[in-house]
Amino acid sequence: MKALTVLPLTAGSARVEDRPDPVPAAGELLVEAVALGVCGTDREIADGEYGWAPPGADRLVLGHESLGRVRTAPAGSGFAEGDLVAGVVRRPDPVPCGACARGEFDMCRNGKYTERGIKEIDGYASELWTVETAYAVKIDKRLGELGVLMEPASVVAKAWDQIEHVGKRSWFEPQRVLVTGAGPIGMLAALLGVQRGLEVHVLDRVDAGPKPAAVAALGATYHSESAREVGERLRPDIVIEATGVPEVIADALAHNAEYGIVCLTGVSTAGRKIHVDVGGANRDIVLENDVVIGSVNANLKHYADAERALAAADPAWLGSLITRRVQLEDYATALKPEPDDIKVVLTF
Ligand SMILES: [Zn+2]
Ligand SMILES: [Zn+2]
Repeated sequence: MKALTVLPLTAGSARVEDRPDPVPAAGELLVEAVALGVCGTDREIADGEYGWAPPGADRLVLGHESLGRVRTAPAGSGFAEGDLVAGVVRRPDPVPCGACARGEFDMCRNGKYTERGIKEIDGYASELWTVETAYAVKIDKRLGELGVLMEPASVVAKAWDQIEHVGKRSWFEPQRVLVTGAGPIGMLAALLGVQRGLEVHVLDRVDAGPKPAAVAALGATYHSESAREVGERLRPDIVIEATGVPEVIADALAHNAEYGIVCLTGVSTAGRKIHVDVGGANRDIVLENDVVIGSVNANLKHYADAERALAAADPAWLGSLITRRVQLEDYATALKPEPDDIKVVLTF
């Protein structure tokens, strides 16, 4: 079978190579790949900035946003040939820490977790892959190819879960949410906001193309002014930050409502310095009982939440998020972002 692999921490090492077909172990599904979402994490790994090969191997099979069709399933597993599935990304650390021991591997406390296609386990960028039934999520057949959005949707479902947990520490009836960044995470965060009946605003740099159109189609409001202008005007109860851009983060922290919750989901590169009035930010956060939370990854509960959110969404709208489809062999073009990209998908 063909697989897209990289030599971790080596820029330009990505290649499609032949690998032996995987053989499912007991309790595992054998899955034919249908599609694979590509995101900033894959680009970072391909650029040699991130990623770990499995123990004893040099190369890592890339890919963590999976969608496949079951070829074989263990009897009595609840899965059958032809089912559409996505594989979960993270696995609990072997110790395990208290969080992993309770199924909250997205909250791992010792950093020894592993991740398919990222950290020490081969990913899903291959024509065939196997996955433990416990880490396979069945996808409604009506979603079809749109099931490739399951993994980013799970990340967003976790972010909302965190926001709601934090909100419940006092009276909490938020009205207005600002999402910064109209990539797949931002768009899906906006979707889950609309599904909650909130007034949703999305901010991005571009002022034309598929992003403003998709936000409008959702019934949300699109903005392309600075985060400062938009934040000052809207004073959102909730901010979901999905750009990782330092200036946008600083404005998100500075301009929100009393009892504001800012959820940071974007991973930025360290080292770019900007001037921030930390005293001013501190005063706002203290005097308004604001909270800033970081959120990454997702556990099985969040995949279930994501499944419900995708099933309730308009399939045509979800389809508008997939702005480029690229054959596995042309992975290099998929790894190169284009300005109008929302979600780029490798097809098999
Ligand atoms: Zn991703
Ligand atoms: Zn752990």
